Amino acid sequence: MTKASNWLTTFVMLVAVVVAGYFVGSLIGNGGLGGGFVLDPNGSTEAVATAAFEDIQEYWGDYASDHPEQFAYDPSAEFVYVGTDEYVDSGCGAVYGTDYNAYYCNYDDTIYVTATLAEDARNQGGIGAVAYTVAHEYGHNIASEVGAAWMDNPGAELYADYLGGAYFADAVSDGDFTVSDSQGATEWAGYLGDYEYYAADHHGTPQEREEAFVYGYQTGDVVVGLNLYWVF
Ligand SMILES: [Zn+2]
Repeated sequence: MTKASNWLTTFVMLVAVVVAGYFVGSLIGNGGLGGGFVLDPNGSTEAVATAAFEDIQEYWGDYASDHPEQFAYDPSAEFVYVGTDEYVDSGCGAVYGTDYNAYYCNYDDTIYVTATLAEDARNQGGIGAVAYTVAHEYGHNIASEVGAAWMDNPGAELYADYLGGAYFADAVSDGDFTVSDSQGATEWAGYLGDYEYYAADHHGTPQEREEAFVYGYQTGDVVVGLNLYWVF
């Protein structure tokens, strides 16, 4: 074998290794639909909420690294599901599983969802509504990360709905949730709306909440949503 053909053989082998590596890498890297998202639609409500939280956390972590101009660092938060007979002392006060409650606490960077609220969400709108409950609270975490933690209501609530919609667009396109799950989430957002215009905790009317979700689903940009709902 001449020196030149020797070199050529090495080169061809090298290309073969790189090409093979590319295909193996893309198979492994993709990890199937939804990047390893595992959700049993018939699983417990706690399991659904927890799986959804992991996926939401991953979505916003990826979003932040894709938008360094919007996020200085990873916007991660903690998640606590409070079972019916459980009690948790959060950074924002006591949470009982029998409470009808879900919130993001700024002081301990944690989302709390009670079993009582999550079970009702599931009865009203299926697993999409459970996931949406977590996605909305994660939206409050995102608002906090971008310096909008103390927006007045209902702008703060509609912004969280908008960000919940942003997550759902990705989850549906990944196959993590179905269009029907997303519909359940939209209806649940509307169901939680209210007409207490002058109350401090007014969350927006049912129509406004559904619209915020849909708009987030369609546009899904943290800054676009912020500019829309900051001055409400
Ligand atoms: Zn909220």
